[in-house]
Amino acid sequence: METGISRRRFLGISASALGASIAAGAPQASAQAGRRPNFIVIFTDDMGYGDLGCYGHPTIRTPHLDQMARDGLRMTSFYVAAAVCSPSRAALLTGRYPVRCGMPGNTGPGSDKHLPESEITIAQALRDGGYRTMAIGKWHLGHQRPELLPTGRGFDHWFGLPYSNDMRQPWVQTDVPLQLYRDTEPIENPVDQDTLTERYTEEAVRFIEVGGDEPFFLYLAHSMPHLPVRTSDRFRGTSDAGLYGDVIETIDWSVGRIRETLRVKGIEDNTLILFTSDNGPWLNLPDRMLQDGNEWWHTGSPGPLRGAKGTTYEGGFRVPMIACWPGVIPAGSESHDVASTMDFLPTLLTAAGADLPVDRTLDGVDIMPLLKGEAEVPHEYFYYFLGSNLQGVRNGDWKYRKENESAEAELYHLGRDPGERYNVASQEPDVTQALAEQMRVFGEAVTRP
Ligand code: MG
Repeated sequence: METGISRRRFLGISASALGASIAAGAPQASAQAGRRPNFIVIFTDDMGYGDLGCYGHPTIRTPHLDQMARDGLRMTSFYVAAAVCSPSRAALLTGRYPVRCGMPGNTGPGSDKHLPESEITIAQALRDGGYRTMAIGKWHLGHQRPELLPTGRGFDHWFGLPYSNDMRQPWVQTDVPLQLYRDTEPIENPVDQDTLTERYTEEAVRFIEVGGDEPFFLYLAHSMPHLPVRTSDRFRGTSDAGLYGDVIETIDWSVGRIRETLRVKGIEDNTLILFTSDNGPWLNLPDRMLQDGNEWWHTGSPGPLRGAKGTTYEGGFRVPMIACWPGVIPAGSESHDVASTMDFLPTLLTAAGADLPVDRTLDGVDIMPLLKGEAEVPHEYFYYFLGSNLQGVRNGDWKYRKENESAEAELYHLGRDPGERYNVASQEPDVTQALAEQMRVFGEAVTRP
């Protein structure tokens, strides 16, 4: 079933007006008969648009994710708000562009950058509403003080790494050990990365199994397939796509294990699962990463898209997205509408009957009508930031891109040219000019204090 390809007009709604209308919108309690839904967000690291069977990969086998797509919705124009790790995560958890939520760049072992404590995360809002919450996997939103860890940001519990799995010698020059945490305590050093995906999965299963009737929010942010890619003996060497394929197929196994747990517990019909990635593949990795067993081909594929992690071409920002909620999201549906991880906060809070923050601009909107196939999402524009530098805007099928003041203006029609091969800026001067102006206005508005 098609939910309709966006063919939106240029309406010229200002960013601030759009934001204000969202923030002022009354929450729609869609929880059915007092039985509030569970939410599972599965967020992979550096997995590309083309890495799954159901997104066209020729050799990586992902039967569980393919089945989840058949049971739910597969999206083809789904975005993250940044093409690198920390800001992408900040935007997902706050519903706001990284420049707006104070996390435009990455943090790491030697950095005290963190998600500002004034920001409200999905977990905080849901926990305040009575949800059990748990973060499993990579955090990467601050770690220098216990209050900055997941347990200080709305999660009852956390099991995982404070930042990326490569942030140790020899790939990153730091003396700070990379350690596995449970809540606020380091419990393993060095970290056995071979078994991380399996251990994250067993933690997830346990979290789902132990709960009573209260609803839960599980944020499972896999450390994989970020370099160094690792998996356990039983998966290593099993994929036709080599070690990278082994790692994606381990994640696929994990999805199957989690869905089976929901089935056994009888809560599959009351649980929304969202599966996506934090940014595109690290095709442009620096030489320092090619040590200690890492190879060029240990990275993913952007499929037909141009660019990679760390760029504002589609390959950096557009990611697989599968949403599954049996009985609510029509099975086998597909959408080409533009949506993003910033929509998760308003969507989940609304479905839970929780209040949306009204004292700040949210960039996301409730996309449940889109997930259900009932309506398009009123996103006029999607913006592509590299750090604090706004480099692109999408409206309908049109994407305008300009890296900096002196760079060439680029205009692509993403419908007929998803690979951004044909710059038609000179053939479409009106569209180019309108989008350039829209980008300028939004860039000024979003960075204004
Ligand atoms: Mg990443």
